[in-house]
Amino acid sequence: MGSRVRSSEAVTTFKVGTNGKVYCYYNLLAALRQAGTCAARPGEEFYECPYALGRSHCSLFVWKHEVENVIIEPSERRVLQNQYDRLEMEKDLLEREVAGLKAKVDSYEEVVAEKRALQTEHEKVGMEKRLLEREVIGLRSKLDTYEAALVKVFGVVVLFLGFLCFFIRY
Ligand SMILES: [Zn+2]
Repeated sequence: MGSRVRSSEAVTTFKVGTNGKVYCYYNLLAALRQAGTCAARPGEEFYECPYALGRSHCSLFVWKHEVENVIIEPSERRVLQNQYDRLEMEKDLLEREVAGLKAKVDSYEEVVAEKRALQTEHEKVGMEKRLLEREVIGLRSKLDTYEAALVKVFGVVVLFLGFLCFFIRY
């Protein structure tokens, strides 16, 4: 290992594969190297972009212990997986519940629409009833007028018959 000085633009963004291996930003398997005697942490291991020593690439540089702080233990991973599975199941249940509620809302809206239609019908019938009542009132007043006229005619006829009887007798 040379005593290269780490550039100030060193990138610490790295990825960890499902195999637990470290990759650089461009998905290249990071190289595990050991720091030289003149380094800040002599003898300590670090990961860097496999191209770091040759042509310039993403200049990944991260100490191994920093990576290990981030990588989760298999047991932790199992716990997280279980949590994830449980959440997935809860999500399914909630989705089913949402679907049920949606169906309820739909049927409720149908009932409301039916009620509204009935209400409109009811209002229409009410309006027709009012029109008929007005017509009946008109007809009744007309009938009253006819009756009054009939009574007058009847009166005249009775008067006329009375005169007729009077003249026949004398
Ligand atoms: Zn790289």
